[in-house]
Amino acid sequence: MLKFGIIGGGWYGCHIASSLRALGFEVKLFEQHDRLFHEASGNNQFRLHQGFHYARHSATRVQSRDGCSRFIERYPGLSAPVANNIYAVPVGDSLVDYDTYRLVMTSTGLHFDEVAASDLDLTNIAGAMRTSERVLNLTRARSYFESSLGDCLRMGEPVRTVVNASEGVEIDGERFDFAIDASWGHFEGVPAQVFYEPTLLLYYEGPPDFPAVTLVDGPLCSIYPTEIDTLYTLSSVPFTPLGRCDTAGEARAARDEVTSALVEQRRMAMERQISRYVPGFRDLFRFAGPQLAIKTKPHGAFDDRSCHVFQTGNVFSVLSGKIDTIFFAVERILALIEAERGGMALHVPSSLRDDIRRVSRQVEQQ
Ligand SMILES: Cc1cc2nc3c(=O)[nH]c(=O)nc-3n(C[C@H](O)[C@H](O)[C@H](O)COP(=O)(O)OP(=O)(O)OC[C@H]3O[C@@H](n4cnc5c(N)ncnc54)[C@H](O)[C@@H]3O)c2cc1C
Repeated sequence: MLKFGIIGGGWYGCHIASSLRALGFEVKLFEQHDRLFHEASGNNQFRLHQGFHYARHSATRVQSRDGCSRFIERYPGLSAPVANNIYAVPVGDSLVDYDTYRLVMTSTGLHFDEVAASDLDLTNIAGAMRTSERVLNLTRARSYFESSLGDCLRMGEPVRTVVNASEGVEIDGERFDFAIDASWGHFEGVPAQVFYEPTLLLYYEGPPDFPAVTLVDGPLCSIYPTEIDTLYTLSSVPFTPLGRCDTAGEARAARDEVTSALVEQRRMAMERQISRYVPGFRDLFRFAGPQLAIKTKPHGAFDDRSCHVFQTGNVFSVLSGKIDTIFFAVERILALIEAERGGMALHVPSSLRDDIRRVSRQVEQQ
């Protein structure tokens, strides 16, 4: 039986561990903190993407579109519908016009209902659609994996060394067949051109029935509900990123040095930006506090958020995409192992000539 050591107790590490265990493999998951989902997986906008966010990247749309329905099937209690979920393309400020946006989403096979901009309490909008995107429930996800992974969790245990050996791999001296680095590049980095982005989202208290409003595509902003029906996150493409770092360590230092003055300055800018499209924002919402995290992003102008897996010897490293692209990671890892272990099948001689000889003899005897 293969033995896997997984580094990182976020969505990726937990889902990979759960899937490998379900297949009967032996698994240990190492998480440096005392609880799961302590980093990016517990500090984000909690949106179960379907692809509507990614007008400029087809692979991300397709992975999200497919991943979303699989996610609902596999983890039915860990997300909930958002009753009124609006994606809107503003006049002038978007990188794509509304007709192009609608065409891209239609051709991806995404379902939506168009909404007349005049029927929404929004301003400066060229066109809008209502989608069935959902919101993730962090509290339930954390407790689901804490209880289902139970005895394979090694909490409060930061991994320090992973050494590739000819047979297997050693994690802090313990032998495994494979190691999976699911730390989103925080343990050893990923063998791809990436940067680390410290981020600031803002939590707000607001009316329970307020719609999710996402302005697309480009340097825009969104307000999205959370698992608490009066709590929302406000995110902004220009004002949420707090820098662009070459290493995870630099990004952690930048995140940990954020001051209340910086939060206040960004809050003003983000409220000004959302008020351009949601004019009642300042009257309806009350600032509740900041949320800090780090994103690991590939370089490039197309907004690629798809998931990639790399293999070096017996170590896999995962460049995570969105939360609903977790399925891709584990399937890719299994496919790489199967290709390596089942490689002998490729050297089986063809039986076609035997078939030709057999059928020829049969025909000659007729
Ligand atoms: C501001 C923001 C908003 C986002 N919004 C969304 C959204 O709405 N929807 C969506 O789908 N995605 C969103 N994302 C992306 C989403 O958060 C990530 O796709 C997802 O959390 C990645 O999960 P992960 O398990 O790879 O990483 P993480 O959740 O960061 O988990 C990595 C884990 O590895 C652990 N670790 C690191 N080093 C070690 C070590 N040496 N030993 C042991 N453990 C270690 C960490 O403690 C951490 O728990 C957002 C991200 C950010 C930052």
